[in-house]
Amino acid sequence: MSSTPVAVVTGGNKGIGFAIVRALCKQFQGDVYLTARDPGNGQAAVAKLQEEGLHPFFHQLDIDDMQSIRTLRDFLKEKYGGVNVLVNNAGIAFKVLDTTPFAVQAEVTLKTNFFGTRNVCTELLPLVKPYGKVVNVSSFVSISSLAKCSKELQQKFCSDTITEEELVKLMTKFVEDAKKNTHEKEGWPNTAYGVSKIGVTVLSRIQARMINEKRKSDHILLNACCPGWVRTDMAGPKAPKSPDEGAQTPVYLALLPADSDGPHGQFVSDKTVRTW
Ligand code: NAP
Repeated sequence: MSSTPVAVVTGGNKGIGFAIVRALCKQFQGDVYLTARDPGNGQAAVAKLQEEGLHPFFHQLDIDDMQSIRTLRDFLKEKYGGVNVLVNNAGIAFKVLDTTPFAVQAEVTLKTNFFGTRNVCTELLPLVKPYGKVVNVSSFVSISSLAKCSKELQQKFCSDTITEEELVKLMTKFVEDAKKNTHEKEGWPNTAYGVSKIGVTVLSRIQARMINEKRKSDHILLNACCPGWVRTDMAGPKAPKSPDEGAQTPVYLALLPADSDGPHGQFVSDKTVRTW
């Protein structure tokens, strides 16, 4: 088994994930894994970074596919005995003008952004080594969407005692409400992406709390963050930040020094803790 530290980035073949891999290759003392659901796209991205003189490794990972997640988990366990840095970056968003019915957008978006991210965490968080870092890439849209939720939902999402099971039930209910077209009546905002990112931010708060309860002495730091508005296939060419600039906050959180006791369980943007 290798004692080399290891970092893993999901959705690393393009956009912000690719830039996070690039930065980690330069700054992380250890092996960096660019993962992608499509091996061809992943290998091409690795080749691009090799042309820059960087040396990421590749592993397939489709966060919608439980088998794919478990294969990566077993690989990390066997080769490294765990993982030191996990960046949950993979995500999707329907374009504003997309005419796909809202119910479908809700199901598909939640499947990847919330349930896929959660499944990766369920399998990989137990593998995170002492002093490890976990970064869940959420979005400012989670904050603006929280403000559009009913008071009752806001209270639940801001609760310091909400459990992962309760959060999963709420995210499942959103998809069901969207299918019945009752989501707005039920207090949800009219944005599938926004609700999925509320899920990611709240999940991160819950996971950080669980780490405090169960693994306090391991000094693991886990946070949600927003990369800012970044020029990628997702956000388009008009966004102000380059992917490398968008990678800065996730990379800052991934590389927090071993002696730092925070941030932990926070929502961070521009390297600053924001109020949830
Ligand atoms: P992007 O350019 O569209 O890249 C998304 C990445 O996620 C791609 O590598 C994509 O792979 C991957 N992905 C999607 N579904 C996946 C799955 N099931 N399994 C594995 N990988 C999957 O988007 P981006 O702008 O870089 O976004 C990265 C993250 O930042 C997302 O979580 C997004 O919500 C968040 N974010 C972005 C912005 C922004 O302004 N760009 C703002 C706030 C938050 P494929 O190439 O195979 O599709």
